[in-house]
Amino acid sequence: MRRIGIIGAGQAGLYLGISLLEAGYRVTLFSEYTPEAILASKPISTTMLMPDALELERNLGLNFWDDDSPSCEEIHSNISDADGNLILVMSNILEKPWQAVDQRLKFSRWMQEFVCRGGELVIQKMTPLELDQCAPNYDLVLVSVGKGSLSSLFEQDVQKSDHDKPKRHIAGGIFTGLKEDFSAFKVTNIFGVGEIMLFPFYHKDKKPAFAVGFEAYPGGVMDRFLGVQSGQELLELSKQVIQELTPWNYEIVENMELTDDKDWLCGAITPTVRHAIAHLPSGATVMGIADTVILHDPIAAQGGNNALKMAHLVTQRMIEHGNLKFDESWMQAVFAEFWEYAQYANALADCLLTPTPFLQNILAAMAENPEIARDYFQGFNHPPSLFPWFFDAEECQKYLARKNSRTVESNYVAIL
Ligand SMILES: Cc1cc2nc3c(=O)[nH]c(=O)nc-3n(C[C@H](O)[C@H](O)[C@H](O)COP(=O)(O)OP(=O)(O)OC[C@H]3O[C@@H](n4cnc5c(N)ncnc54)[C@H](O)[C@@H]3O)c2cc1C
Repeated sequence: MRRIGIIGAGQAGLYLGISLLEAGYRVTLFSEYTPEAILASKPISTTMLMPDALELERNLGLNFWDDDSPSCEEIHSNISDADGNLILVMSNILEKPWQAVDQRLKFSRWMQEFVCRGGELVIQKMTPLELDQCAPNYDLVLVSVGKGSLSSLFEQDVQKSDHDKPKRHIAGGIFTGLKEDFSAFKVTNIFGVGEIMLFPFYHKDKKPAFAVGFEAYPGGVMDRFLGVQSGQELLELSKQVIQELTPWNYEIVENMELTDDKDWLCGAITPTVRHAIAHLPSGATVMGIADTVILHDPIAAQGGNNALKMAHLVTQRMIEHGNLKFDESWMQAVFAEFWEYAQYANALADCLLTPTPFLQNILAAMAENPEIARDYFQGFNHPPSLFPWFFDAEECQKYLARKNSRTVESNYVAIL
């Protein structure tokens, strides 16, 4: 039986570990934390998954929260200016719901599931030296440490992504006590200032809640969260920013409370793509997957979805490879195949981080034509479907004309 080592028990590592067990591999998973420690930690993220990724979880029987978790059935998307004036409002029913389950709950439960299905779980924060020492024990070692420091073993690939600093400062929290009980993903784009998102979220203590997220342009008027030191401070600042920048949402959040004083996060991510292979001092090679090699700002909600899709593809290609050696050319080929998909997820995130001049045309057209809204939101589930119209001004104009929308150039001006 082939032996596989996986470093990092997160969205990708756990899915991969469990899917490889199902395929008959012997799998050892190294996790820096115990399931109990993860459950007791601060939030890891507020990850929203789209239908294709959710389907992958369901196919492995890992959808333990489908009956209890709230889901997003529709999108309410607004554009406003920096003075809190609403410019454009649109809503769209999603073809299939989105779902956000607290990763603390998911990872701790999936770690137990991994062990139940026959996996070996080792609680150890791996160092580069330990990685090198353990590599010869396995037919293949996959590194899925997310933003963990081991990712720096993989060289950056500036041809694929050349960000050198974060495009947003991120903050968010998990709340209850919102006035409305909604099943919509509410997003407001304030061009040049940032984005504010409110959406249903399943909290680690197995209770429905809401996540509120802020994506602030560095130095802009929303960029006030980086010095936050406590849950109370985060709560007050969140309300204040919402009242100032999206006053129509204030009534909804006026009495909200954090689910726990530690249920908040602040930070910033430099989107980074790395080469898929790291060469260790002993001569061993290991393969990076998910955030370790393709790291996103959360603006387009792609990282967790990517993590599952890449883990799934790697499993499929491993099975097809039979008993052959997992050499560098195999690793390169698998990564190249995934990049065929992932390049569009990256392009989508980049277009939202630095909005193209024609993005406002698309958003305006969506308000009038539900078909365009449907295509746009389907793009979050499967970003290649946005090619080429979402990424290119000329193609966008042709697409909008084809959709028989009034919105070509002049309509945007009229609406604003
Ligand atoms: C605020 C926020 C909001 C987000 N929203 C979304 C969203 O809406 N949709 C979406 O798709 N994505 C979202 N993401 C991104 C998503 O959470 C990640 O892309 C996804 O979890 C990546 O999976 P991964 O397996 O690569 O890494 P992770 O899930 O981060 O797992 C990595 C694991 O490796 C462990 N580890 C690290 N170093 C070591 C070591 N040396 N030894 C052993 N273990 C180690 C870590 O403890 C962790 O458990 C968001 C992220 C943030 C921060």
